[in-house]
Amino acid sequence: MRILVLGGSTESSDLSRRLAADGRFEVVLSLAGRTRNPGAQPVPLRSGGFGGVDGLVAWLREHRTEAVIDATHPFAARMSAHAVAACRQLDVPLASIDRPAWLRQPGDDWLGVASAAEAVTALGAVPRRVLLTMGRLELGAFAAAPQHHYVARMIDAPGDVALPPDLRVLLARGPFDEAAEAALLDDEKIDVIVSKNSGGGAAYGKIVAARQRGLRVIMIARPHKPRGTLLANPVDAMAWLERGLHQNVSRSPRGV
Ligand code: NAP
Repeated sequence: MRILVLGGSTESSDLSRRLAADGRFEVVLSLAGRTRNPGAQPVPLRSGGFGGVDGLVAWLREHRTEAVIDATHPFAARMSAHAVAACRQLDVPLASIDRPAWLRQPGDDWLGVASAAEAVTALGAVPRRVLLTMGRLELGAFAAAPQHHYVARMIDAPGDVALPPDLRVLLARGPFDEAAEAALLDDEKIDVIVSKNSGGGAAYGKIVAARQRGLRVIMIARPHKPRGTLLANPVDAMAWLERGLHQNVSRSPRGV
């Protein structure tokens, strides 16, 4: 069975490992190309946009793709919308791994915002020491609030973008454990965190550490993400594919 996995998440790496170990599946993992060195992958990789819905339709046709798993990051909403549209056009089954958002727990001091621009406003006029953990793509928004000291953590250095003057870049790749996050908050004397509500365990350590210190988290809410069949995790994705495999076999003319 020929499968396209739309990746860029912990779940897509996990699913790729599972699929690589199962000879019944021929898999291509697709990444947006946002990370300069995504590391070795256990399945064939393609990188970069498809060229909108039409480009994705053409790719799926050309590769005679029989199923698509959307395991993109919770904030990669455009890719998910394109996957829904393209799979509908071609009648290719689509399933989407839906990582639950983090929920506010007792002791959390969260301020919910809808975008990086709103997060900038929410930081206020008084200078703060801010930890930014939202990647490099939207860092430019914080240039509008140069009064703060920023520690910005990301995988790759920011490109050619105007940054606030007092910003220290911290290059690091998750997962981040709670003790290390606590040490970072203390060492840098952070008093507010800006985070996307990514969900999952790999980036949750800072949320726990913030709760323990009574620190405010400005939490950027998720965009609406169009979906196919909802799946909770890579194990469920394997089961969904397995069911599809059996249906394909029973539909084939020779029944094999
Ligand atoms: P997006 O807004 O959903 O996608 C923008 C375009 O990038 C898509 O239309 C598509 O281009 C291409 N694209 C995205 N994911 C792709 C994939 N897996 N394979 C091939 N092409 C892909 O997503 P984004 O711009 O990457 O990110 C949006 C937000 O999610 C950002 O805030 C980012 O920090 C966060 N995020 C993304 C990733 C990721 O791996 N993408 C990982 C972590 C966080 P075409 O229309 O040309 O096909």
